[in-house]
Amino acid sequence: MNIALWLHQTAARRPEAPAVRVGEALHATYGDYAARTRALARGFAARGVGPGDRVVLFAKNGPDYLAVMHAALWIGAAIVPVNHKLHPAEAAWIVADAGARLAVTETGDLSTRPDWPADCLEVGLHSGDFAEAATPGPGDRTTPPREAREDDLAWLFYTSGTTGRPKGVMLTHGALRAMAMTYPLDVDPARASDHPLYAAPMSHGAGLYTFHYIRLGACHVIPPGQGFDPAEIEALARALGDLVFFAAPTMIRRLVAHARASGWRGEGVRTVIYGGGPMYLADLDEAVDLMGPRFVQIYGQGESPMTITVLPRDMVADRAHPRAEARRGSVGYAQACVEVRVVDEAMADVPVDAPGEIVVRGATVMKGYWNRPEATAETLVDGWLRTGDVGRLDADGFLTLTDRSKDVIISGGTNIYPREVEETLLAHAGVAEVSVIGVPSAEWGEDVLAFVVLHPGADCGPETLDAWCRARMASFKKPKHWRFLDELPKNAYGKVLKTELRKQA
Ligand code: AMP
Repeated sequence: MNIALWLHQTAARRPEAPAVRVGEALHATYGDYAARTRALARGFAARGVGPGDRVVLFAKNGPDYLAVMHAALWIGAAIVPVNHKLHPAEAAWIVADAGARLAVTETGDLSTRPDWPADCLEVGLHSGDFAEAATPGPGDRTTPPREAREDDLAWLFYTSGTTGRPKGVMLTHGALRAMAMTYPLDVDPARASDHPLYAAPMSHGAGLYTFHYIRLGACHVIPPGQGFDPAEIEALARALGDLVFFAAPTMIRRLVAHARASGWRGEGVRTVIYGGGPMYLADLDEAVDLMGPRFVQIYGQGESPMTITVLPRDMVADRAHPRAEARRGSVGYAQACVEVRVVDEAMADVPVDAPGEIVVRGATVMKGYWNRPEATAETLVDGWLRTGDVGRLDADGFLTLTDRSKDVIISGGTNIYPREVEETLLAHAGVAEVSVIGVPSAEWGEDVLAFVVLHPGADCGPETLDAWCRARMASFKKPKHWRFLDELPKNAYGKVLKTELRKQA
């Protein structure tokens, strides 16, 4: 089944229902949005795009984002969403790697670059060409999407690439549908009256969280600022109500800081789904105390999008449970569409509570990496996806991430999980952000080096933080070296770039 069928069906059932708003202003109803999508699909086909082809979308969150995505799917092509914060050279590299036939871009002028593949056409979102292609003609109210098989490629997702060149993760129509159907079961009871808001890049998780809302006929909201602006979110929450959005933990920190300053307590926000990186307990406490039980955590990765584990809102907020601390510090339990295990190098289960690599099997797991058979064979083993993340499963099935395997620091033969050190340091009132890595040491193999960003005006040097750690953790885990920075290097998704920190070290 083509996942685009949901837009077709919703438009037939509820043509007058609002489909997309830019801020509060209505951009299109479902009937009009589907017509626009069908027109674009025809326009793409007229430019030579056919079933099995790839269409790149390199753009900010905008009102036509979902239409371009669905237009590609409509004609049996796959969509390749590229984060708009990437450098044009990086985008051109992805266009070439994906072998894209067409690229829809913000500016429309990237194909003049020497590194742009000659056989890829470009259309600018704001061009006359695009406007013409998106104008519905006769038949654009009825034409259904082309049939697709479950395992046909729908979405080619380039992983954020904290290491090396990005790889294209192949997600099928079946995987996207399984992901969408798990959402209301495990993550949040989605409703037609919700306002899904796209504050985080739609090229990533936020864009994957659109299909169930299209199915329901909810109205998608594009923030006029096209990004994550807490003041804008507050205003939209107050005006529209029932906002639901995905945010990375770094965004939650900004949201909470804004709420603290403005006096807003989250009224009008129904649910914030967070994930994509570690959320520290101190931050979570602050968010829940200030804004109430509106938060749900998910753990996923491009290779099993949004769907490895979930920690639902009641568990995120519950501090009375006897195991509350462990549960709230975990990423929750396996979502309904996957099985999760923690294994050793031979792929055998490790005992309960012992650390090992997290592996995942289920309907949402990728088909493989685009044109990378070796990387695929290393990552998909007997149907299990090796996540590269290290964690432990407790007796009740809660998974705690300790780190990505490559980030583990080994000092004196003992594993040190950076996250543990980071949690301890973050609990200090003067520390705003922290990231720790291992650096070579003649004596121990590796030493812990901490990069610290202090709150403005905080007065704490290495001695203070050393004493703080000494009072709270095993001595071997304490950072031996300290660097104080104004900010941590982050990638386009707000994830701390440990590779960059390693270079600096
Ligand atoms: P990406 O494929 O770019 O979405 O990155 C996925 C990676 O982000 C995972 O493999 C984890 O290392 C990390 N990650 C995702 N969700 C969480 C979470 N809830 N807590 C901690 N780390 C996470």
